[in-house]
Amino acid sequence: MAKIAPKEMKQEQKRKQSGEVRPIVQSGDPVLRELAQSVSLKDIGTPRIDAVIADMKITLAGQKDGVAIAAPQIGVPLRIFVVSGAMLKAALEHEKLPTDGIGADLVFINPTITKLSRDKMPLDEGCLSVRWLYGKVKRSVKATVRAYNERGEIIERGASGLLAQIFQHETDHLEGTLFIDKATQLEEIPPEKKD
Ligand code: ZN
Repeated sequence: MAKIAPKEMKQEQKRKQSGEVRPIVQSGDPVLRELAQSVSLKDIGTPRIDAVIADMKITLAGQKDGVAIAAPQIGVPLRIFVVSGAMLKAALEHEKLPTDGIGADLVFINPTITKLSRDKMPLDEGCLSVRWLYGKVKRSVKATVRAYNERGEIIERGASGLLAQIFQHETDHLEGTLFIDKATQLEEIPPEKKD
């Protein structure tokens, strides 16, 4: 997911990571419309899957407004998404919300949303694969995701606000859904106009 970034979030994030920067697939490419496949549990932690995750992290780190990325966005039709810990922390600080335990990138493999609040809000949204459109999407204010982390451990994480929005945007990607399918008030904001 992409945010219209406040100034302080635009500084280059310096992160030590291996992996390869991949081009971000843009809307119109069929891989974004596929139902992504589950990762077999025996494959979690293998060099192949670790390389996909490393590529996702470094590709996301190269996007100054990128808060999260799903594997299909680098052309890999697997059920994995990564949330940038640094961007999430900066966004929460900007909203004056607690950042306890947030810092490292968060990896979600085979995620399923287990809870969604009935309470919804129209939120500003953009996507690294739909440059440079932004719009409002009605999202549940709270969401809980259950997934495997990169060590193959089951994790369950509840969230509200931005992280809850990210959970919904990224799991949509794994179903072949883009935010533009749901958004209202779509408008184009080219990068130079956001400064
Ligand atoms: Zn997206």
